[in-house]
Amino acid sequence: MIVSVNEALRRVGEPFPFAWEGELTPQTFGGDPVRFVGTAKLSGTYVYDGKTFRVDAEAEASYETTCARCGKAMVETLSFAFTEHFVRSIYKTPDDELYPYEGERLDLTEAFFDNLFLEMPMTTVCSESCKGLCPVCGADLNRGQCSCQTQKIDARLSALESLLNDHKEV
Ligand SMILES: [Zn+2]
Ligand SMILES: [Zn+2]
Repeated sequence: MIVSVNEALRRVGEPFPFAWEGELTPQTFGGDPVRFVGTAKLSGTYVYDGKTFRVDAEAEASYETTCARCGKAMVETLSFAFTEHFVRSIYKTPDDELYPYEGERLDLTEAFFDNLFLEMPMTTVCSESCKGLCPVCGADLNRGQCSCQTQKIDARLSALESLLNDHKEV
């Protein structure tokens, strides 16, 4: 995700468009591997103000994950936008929020992944209506109700009934 900015360095204040498409290498997020699927996209504009570059970008990436309810393998697509600033690496200080660049090239890779992981949800579900797995037998409840589920409800009801009966007797 390298953008050649030699033109923009000479034309301060003028925005330039860029577009990148390609495959992403696997990453690690929160200790878990993240594998990407298909082609990721990154596009937007960059403008030089005489000292820093401002990059406004829109991005899209798909990755493999599993449904938090039923455990089914699925692909989640994230679309996100971000604005980041880049400064020549010799001017970068440890506590600024700028990304460094060298020469006449901006490498947007780090900014892309930082923003992707900010957008990545903690959990994904295959469908909002996913019923998940039975906590007792592990059956996929999207394929139909298992027998233990009803037994559990019956057990709770009868416990309630005997509780009510106890009260009557007192
Ligand atoms: Zn599911
Ligand atoms: Zn069950």
